[in-house]
Amino acid sequence: MVFTLRLVEYFYPPKCIFCGEIVEAGNNKYSCGECERFLRPYISTGLMRPTDKFEKLVCLWKYEGMVKESLKKYKFNDKAGYYRAFSIGLYEKLKQAGLEKIDGVLSVPLHKSRKTERGYNQSFLISRMLSGKMKVPEMSRLLIRVRNTESQSLLSQKGRSENMKGAFRVSNPFKIRGKNILLVDDVVTTGNTLNECTKMLKDAGAGKIYAAVVASARER
Ligand SMILES: [Zn+2]
Repeated sequence: MVFTLRLVEYFYPPKCIFCGEIVEAGNNKYSCGECERFLRPYISTGLMRPTDKFEKLVCLWKYEGMVKESLKKYKFNDKAGYYRAFSIGLYEKLKQAGLEKIDGVLSVPLHKSRKTERGYNQSFLISRMLSGKMKVPEMSRLLIRVRNTESQSLLSQKGRSENMKGAFRVSNPFKIRGKNILLVDDVVTTGNTLNECTKMLKDAGAGKIYAAVVASARER
């Protein structure tokens, strides 16, 4: 296994997701030393917004500068392979977050039409890798998007929260009941999407819901 990985890295050396420089293989590295100096980790105050329904937010970086660029490329420019870098980073952060036992990982679902457009759900690729690393089931099929929503960025705060209502449904509440779940998305802006998903999971009887995102545009 290790040998196969080395061989793959020999032919396809890992590159920095921010600048494209080749990075030293074998260290789970995804960015070069130069870019690392400019990365701003997300420092959690541990405080949630009063409207937050999830227990805790685990986040890797602030949503700005080269992080923002890399996430845009990930989503819109066919850089699906970035999911590895994001998952490795997020996994390290999760280990330090002191969460209770997690029973499953699931991602914020995309509407079918968007998935077809893009070919993949960017959050699902991350939740799948995280579930593998954490050795817990990937449960994304249990939360489905039943309604496509308008682009959140065009709406007011109140409109955004209304826009999300009824957008998701739990397909099998029996499998959610009593489970502590890690809910994964790529970016959090207002938190409305994560909150609506959390609400549906809690209504279905879930235990604790922890949110994990690659980057946050929120101050807390
Ligand atoms: Zn770099």
